[in-house]
Amino acid sequence: MYDTFGAREILEEIRSLLADPEINRLGPGIEEPAWDSPLLGVSRGDDPLYAEFQETIGPFYWTPLEAFRAGFPETGVAASDLAVVVWALPQTAATRRDHRACTTLPSRRWSLARHYGEAVNDRIRDSLARALTDAGYPAVAPARLPAFGRETSERFGIASRWSERHAAYASGLGTFGLCDGLITERGKAVRFGSVVAAIDLPVTPRPYSDRTAYCLRLSGKECDVCIRRCPAGAITAEGHDKERCFAYIRETTMPFVEDELGIPVASCGFCQTGVPCESRRPR
Ligand code: SF4
Ligand code: SF4
Repeated sequence: MYDTFGAREILEEIRSLLADPEINRLGPGIEEPAWDSPLLGVSRGDDPLYAEFQETIGPFYWTPLEAFRAGFPETGVAASDLAVVVWALPQTAATRRDHRACTTLPSRRWSLARHYGEAVNDRIRDSLARALTDAGYPAVAPARLPAFGRETSERFGIASRWSERHAAYASGLGTFGLCDGLITERGKAVRFGSVVAAIDLPVTPRPYSDRTAYCLRLSGKECDVCIRRCPAGAITAEGHDKERCFAYIRETTMPFVEDELGIPVASCGFCQTGVPCESRRPR
């Protein structure tokens, strides 16, 4: 527990949760971590990108201030008082290796990380929001708010009120690939989490000028690996077909994982492994 928080303490808090084998594990009774060491990025609550996201995705999409107010309705804080803190949790080498070898049905490790690893991510969201709030910096984890949920974007179809990937892009962690995944310095086989807090933190520089700078194909080089990796034909030169992607998960991978693990898990992510952007920014 810290009395004051800066980016260093926040990263330490996340690292200490991930260092606990009782928390960071691939599943009950499995002595193996779900996640590798994290990346951290910070943006301001009044960063104009958030208004742009809302404009593009739909009016239901939260700005940081709207997400914060969903947790603290009586607050008098302004968007400029807020920081958006985003972390990326890279898949382990063992999970990436197993998944790379799969072509149509997901590896067990990947599915475990998608289910139990996401529970670890929720634990980080909750713990960090609580620790910051207890230290005098009220904080919410947007993805954990009761009002968080699925919506339909006129332009993009299935969407949600808050996108961890968009927050990560705004917070200097990476740019989008052809498949819509966010390519970070540790690649795109990662999961993201975030909190919005009333705290003054230095922002992380965005070392890119456009939203697809790290994708080989979308920056003018040759690459079609994620197109070929997707067993559903949901990635084409035009981009990612979300409906087709979700249909494959709903009809094919989810029932498979339910048979395998006894739980229906939205596990897929072939487009995140066996690609040049799997575990690093491709150059
Ligand atoms: S596999 Fe190639 S085209 Fe697909 S997101 Fe990665 S760099 Fe872009
Ligand atoms: S998650 Fe699966 S179905 Fe969706 S684009 Fe990636 S590989 Fe294709």
